[in-house]
Amino acid sequence: MMDRARELDAADPLAKYRVHFILPDGLIYLDGNSLGALPSATPAVMQRVIQQEWGEGLIRSWNDADWFEMAARIGGKIAPLIGAEPQEVIACDTVSVNLFKLIAAALQMRPGRKIILSEPGNFPTDIYMIEGLERQGLATQRLASREDVPTALDEDVALLMLTHAHYKTGELFDMAALTKAAHEVGALVLWDLSHSTGAMPVDLGAIGADFATGCGYKYLCGGPGAPAFAFVAERHHRDLKQPLTGWFGHARPFAFSDEYEAAPGIEQLQCGTSPVLGLAALEVGVDLIAKIGVKRLHLKSQALSEFFLECVVELGLELELVSPADSAARGSQLSFRHQHAYAISQALIARDVIGDFRAPDILRLGFAPAYLRFEDIAEAARHLAEVIAGEEWQRDEFNRRAAVT
Ligand SMILES: *Cc1c(COP(=O)(O)O)cnc(C)c1O
Repeated sequence: MMDRARELDAADPLAKYRVHFILPDGLIYLDGNSLGALPSATPAVMQRVIQQEWGEGLIRSWNDADWFEMAARIGGKIAPLIGAEPQEVIACDTVSVNLFKLIAAALQMRPGRKIILSEPGNFPTDIYMIEGLERQGLATQRLASREDVPTALDEDVALLMLTHAHYKTGELFDMAALTKAAHEVGALVLWDLSHSTGAMPVDLGAIGADFATGCGYKYLCGGPGAPAFAFVAERHHRDLKQPLTGWFGHARPFAFSDEYEAAPGIEQLQCGTSPVLGLAALEVGVDLIAKIGVKRLHLKSQALSEFFLECVVELGLELELVSPADSAARGSQLSFRHQHAYAISQALIARDVIGDFRAPDILRLGFAPAYLRFEDIAEAARHLAEVIAGEEWQRDEFNRRAAVT
């Protein structure tokens, strides 16, 4: 197993990028889908932004260091990763807030329709944000299981809102087919790309998507709480009316006018002042992921998860895979159902193998392709086999729940 891993590492065209990330020695990090690793260029960039741009430049840096343009500039760099044009993407807010703005904008573009269609078991915040608009009397939530989504699409649906790669199982939706089906009944489509962006190519332009948002701190390695991004197809810019009409979305924020006038382009999606430090860290991650290339990252992510499954078989581990067995049908992760998934994930962490647990019974292993080695995969499988065979997970210390899992 280890020999095979070494062969695969030797032949891996992305192996050379691992040194562009700071990872503690001996740690096997299978949680890059929750918080991406730290790019080694980030600390120096942050040092410069903090000491020179903030410390010395002070307020002048809004112009001199291009702080004012940062959100749109980084959006433009995320665009090719998701098949969008640079003027269609902006880095701002969180995924949750972007969902709110985009759902409300979609409702406003489909007068007479109130239904937002999604699936039960979508990432909680996605569903909660529909509920928030429902509480305002603006939206009505409709949830249909993934098989039933096409039949639940009818002419009352204003917006179909789905997550491309499911956070728990990694199962992918067919974005092209569902976008087409939604458009056929006159509905708009909003894709949550949190678990795809930076791990696999997505082509929003080719499929004719209307809206999208995604996460900056997962595969884009933008750091904890990094700003998210939002996409609006250019054909909708003229009709876009997002509800959080803060001054940074104004056509001329520094005119300090009493009347709100939306910026004509994607800048309208901004609300308040850009989080410059967060954006600075995000830009380093985006640059690095863009340089490695999402097509190559996707191929490697598939190879890593395939290899993990081979190791599992070789070790005689009997695990219930809840991710699709076909790597073309899943994101960059493998999830296994086990009654003691929480304790197993804790026992693995004690062995310096960091994956995570998703309630109630899922052990989730993320395969961030930019920095993982096949060797790590073989080692992780061996640790998992030992934890299960030796019932190490039974120890009390592994059965106490922490706040963040
Ligand atoms: C991680 C994730 C989010 C995160 O939302 P934030 O508001 O940025 O915390 C949203 N949706 C999905 C599907 C996610 O995986």
